[in-house]
Amino acid sequence: MSLPPLVEPAAELTVDEIRRYSRHLIIPDVGVTGQKRLKNARVLCVGAGGLGSPALMYLAAAGVGTLGIIDFDTVDESNLQRQIIHGVSDVGRSKAESAAASIREINPLVNVEIHNTALDRDNVREIFAQYDLIVDGTDNFATRYMVNDAAVLLGKPYVWGSIYRFDGQASVFWAEHGPCYRCLYPEPPPPGMVPSCAEGGVLGVLCASIGSIQVNEAIKLLAGIGEPLVGRLMVYDALEMSYRKIKVRKDPNCVLCGENATLTDLLEDYEDFCGAVSVEAQEAVVDATITAAELKEWQDVGKDIFLVDVREPAEYEIVRIPGATLIPKGEILSGEALSKLPQDRQIVLHCKSGVRSAEALAALKAAGFRDAVHVQGGVLSWIKQIDPSLPAY
Ligand SMILES: [Zn+2]
Repeated sequence: MSLPPLVEPAAELTVDEIRRYSRHLIIPDVGVTGQKRLKNARVLCVGAGGLGSPALMYLAAAGVGTLGIIDFDTVDESNLQRQIIHGVSDVGRSKAESAAASIREINPLVNVEIHNTALDRDNVREIFAQYDLIVDGTDNFATRYMVNDAAVLLGKPYVWGSIYRFDGQASVFWAEHGPCYRCLYPEPPPPGMVPSCAEGGVLGVLCASIGSIQVNEAIKLLAGIGEPLVGRLMVYDALEMSYRKIKVRKDPNCVLCGENATLTDLLEDYEDFCGAVSVEAQEAVVDATITAAELKEWQDVGKDIFLVDVREPAEYEIVRIPGATLIPKGEILSGEALSKLPQDRQIVLHCKSGVRSAEALAALKAAGFRDAVHVQGGVLSWIKQIDPSLPAY
């Protein structure tokens, strides 16, 4: 499948540009028109890390006219093994600023737009709307699903890549012409199942292997050349040195891009959706987790507990566990609600699925509530195990 070019050509190339891009201009499939399209293109790179580094450098060198960089992080020494857009003198500096400086050095003709902020549900649409194409270099599931959802809702194509140890994957997701990320991965993996690169490691050069595939696909989409990686997943194994292409079909039942899509807006909380539990929360729940059945038993025998629902008021309105007092997680994390909690009763926390209550539990333990526990699976487990007549949401 070939697709029409994503971008109209710029009016002209300057003499400087003709000199600089001459090795592109003499490729018949690119030519002056293809280079003019790159000049007119606006590409956003989400993350200036492992994948973002090579992606930004090659996009800049190729002459993409406007490059957006979104990253809120700062350069750490442990990044330098793979994030080659940053150098020793950049340690401690904003990644977006550092990447922008490198791009100016590679190609001063590129207009760089810096978004020195975390991508979130409040800014993602506005930022994405300014670009023709997104290159996803994120390293966590919460942001990945948000990038996908925003791109589909805005009708934007995006080039996705992921890396772990010696394995890499890449694809182009564009719901108008093929599957989206949710068609391939409808559900995030359970928390703790897939270690991050920070936990499991990544071969530095793997970033270049996958990042360069992403740039290759970006250029093809912008200029309308070749066969884009739409509906196909590239799977790379650096140890075997094998590239495999797997067909990915659009899922007719995809909640986001399927025929009867039910997801028509961004999720309220992607961290919650992906069950991203912090290390503190993972430690806090050890020996401090009860099941919904145990909670019911405690209530039935009249154990002196103080049950706290850490969800939001709207969720409490929809469904609640009998006897629970609503204290949203934010008030516990800020310390504001600590005075509302009894010191002489055992505190039992719950939320919808057990993720937010684990975070709140970590805060309570740190504040000295040593015997506090949380309910595994939260309201959803309560409905399943104790009272299926309640509405799941
Ligand atoms: Zn889909």
